[in-house]
Amino acid sequence: MNRALNFNAGPAVLPDAVLAEAEKNWLNFHQTGMAVMELSHRSKEYETIHEQAILLLRELLSIPDTYEVLFLQGGASLQFSMVPMNLLTEGKAGNYVLTGVWAEKALKEAEKVGKTFISASSKNQRYKTIPAKNIETSEDAAYLHITSNNTIYGTQWQKFPSNERIPLVADMSSDLLSRKVNIENFDLIYAGAQKNLGPSGVTVVIMKKELLSRSRSHLPTMLNYNTYADHNSLYNTPPTLAIYLLKLVLEWAKGLGGLPVIEKRNEEKAKILYDVIDCSEGFFLGHAEKESRSKMNIAFNLHNEESAKSFLHQAKEEGFIGLNGHRSVGGFRASIYNAMPVEHVIQLAGFMKKFREYN
Ligand SMILES: *Cc1c(COP(=O)(O)O)cnc(C)c1O
Repeated sequence: MNRALNFNAGPAVLPDAVLAEAEKNWLNFHQTGMAVMELSHRSKEYETIHEQAILLLRELLSIPDTYEVLFLQGGASLQFSMVPMNLLTEGKAGNYVLTGVWAEKALKEAEKVGKTFISASSKNQRYKTIPAKNIETSEDAAYLHITSNNTIYGTQWQKFPSNERIPLVADMSSDLLSRKVNIENFDLIYAGAQKNLGPSGVTVVIMKKELLSRSRSHLPTMLNYNTYADHNSLYNTPPTLAIYLLKLVLEWAKGLGGLPVIEKRNEEKAKILYDVIDCSEGFFLGHAEKESRSKMNIAFNLHNEESAKSFLHQAKEEGFIGLNGHRSVGGFRASIYNAMPVEHVIQLAGFMKKFREYN
């Protein structure tokens, strides 16, 4: 069977090897006579999956022991609420850098919980850049929140802010595990799995243990990070199948050689597409400013609407899936997460060049 040329932004392409391994165990996981989603979450078999997923995350991302690794549900979107509910203490302000729609949504949820402050914004530049050099924090900052990769606009932080005084919180939904990051620069990282880590249904939270004492006890149990930390994310039934698939993706990532190899591959893949855009003499227009370009989501457009329509039409005919841009930017977006094979990127680059020649 031919696998699709899947450039979807999320849920997104998963490695063939991961899907094949899951299929092999689908009806009978490790001679249990049960599928993974039929196992009790209190069984030894499931516990092993759960532990391995946590250990692999710790190993691949070099997460120090002073951090918790938690599995939650509700997507990255629930973290927009949980972060301020747990970390935005009385009289303090949640500081936000606005770099796109997801950051705006995170801010909107924080406004419902307490005081907020906009530390920087590139909204007036249609979110083409990361305003890394112009960050202002408030005197009463409880934390600074950033979005490491802006899935919709195709921008990505190249160098993260560092301020010893203020805890740094990052939504890494679309680039966790795609490049090396120093976890110790951050106090809390969260990511919905469905871009780079696995299927939808599980959210990874990596947080400094120290921060757990900020959560007030009147919070609903399931919205308090301590509930997950105290019970190894097994207070209630976790999304067992999603965590199993996450574990398989992490094993695959380790087999490739871990983050150094993955980062290099991602740089190569992104370069293939940006080179087509940059060498097109303005035929293709990249959305992001060069120094803010994302290696995960390449957002671009064509000089006129007529050609844009025909580009999308022909791309569909050639079997490319998910190339239409988000409704808030228009144009096109090629999402090329870890699992996107380089061959598929080369095919897309070839199609773009051919399209330009004929138009
Ligand atoms: C996809 C995405 C989200 C939303 O994730 P859900 O899991 O659907 O809630 C939030 N932030 C970023 C950066 C994303 O890419």
